[in-house]
Amino acid sequence: MEFLRPTSVQEAVEALAVRQGRSRVLAGGTDLVVRMKDGLETTRSLISLGRCVELRGVREESDQIVIGAMTTHEELARSMFLRRVAPVLAEAAAEVGSVQIRQRGTIGGNVVNASPSADLVPPLHVLGATVVLVSRAGVRPLGIDEFATGPKQTRIRPEELLVELRFARPRADELQRYLKLGQRRALACAKVSLAFRARSTAGVLRDVRIACGAVAPTVIRAREAERALEGTLPTADAIGRACAALARDIRPIDDVRSTAAWRLAACAELLRRAVPGPV
Ligand SMILES: Cc1cc2nc3c(=O)[nH]c(=O)nc-3n(C[C@H](O)[C@H](O)[C@H](O)COP(=O)(O)OP(=O)(O)OC[C@H]3O[C@@H](n4cnc5c(N)ncnc54)[C@H](O)[C@@H]3O)c2cc1C
Repeated sequence: MEFLRPTSVQEAVEALAVRQGRSRVLAGGTDLVVRMKDGLETTRSLISLGRCVELRGVREESDQIVIGAMTTHEELARSMFLRRVAPVLAEAAAEVGSVQIRQRGTIGGNVVNASPSADLVPPLHVLGATVVLVSRAGVRPLGIDEFATGPKQTRIRPEELLVELRFARPRADELQRYLKLGQRRALACAKVSLAFRARSTAGVLRDVRIACGAVAPTVIRAREAERALEGTLPTADAIGRACAALARDIRPIDDVRSTAAWRLAACAELLRRAVPGPV
């Protein structure tokens, strides 16, 4: 087994290019190593990003928030800056697994792993994030909504590295929430999750964005529910209509964690809890 530890993005990209897709990128290893141990993944070459310090941290670039791919869940959950500018993402990071998983697991790994129940992905959808991919050929930005195509399926190419996530700095007066239901309060993947973002002008909701996890093959935007709430006062009736609209947005399935019927009811309940009001 070859184990490489590049110290820069350029070195990592070069190592990927030379191996022409025969190598796997290793971030925190909380998904990849588990799958390798279970025999679900095999590779003879790992490229660990642990020494690429340029891939870590949250920063501001003019009106953009930029998060390095190797930033851990714990760093996101504890970042006072992120809690102020994008609380929906910081709240989601705090919900991941356990302290140990949060210390090792990264935002890049969470996104590339493409689980429909990945905690950071619904917030990235409502924030309108861009996934920045780099290879020898250059930089390829992709919208988060284009990135995953199915469970564990994405548009990343074998020679590409995810280097960062970017989104426009949200306005200070926004409402943002992330809510998750799992089997337990800790160490449990989401059975259903929901990220909510909106502005409230004199109580009227504007720019409503809702994304749901674990209710379709990928994380999805709930556009019918968004439309039902846009421009409304969040009365019990308006929220009830949005919850009914959710049934047209999501495609839950029966699986080992839950039934489709329970997921639909639970997702509607999360929306009810996320929306401020009723007034
Ligand atoms: C006990 C346990 C509990 C968990 N609980 C949760 C939970 O509550 N919520 C949740 O969302 N997840 C959970 N997970 C899953 C996992 O911890 C997260 O998805 C984590 O963010 C993965 O990040 P990582 O850095 O460990 O990725 P890795 O395992 O290192 O990598 C995952 C995949 O992404 C690829 N990859 C990683 N980084 C890059 C990059 N920069 N560029 C290109 N490809 C890359 C790897 O090649 C691999 O295919 C849990 C896992 C365990 C074992």
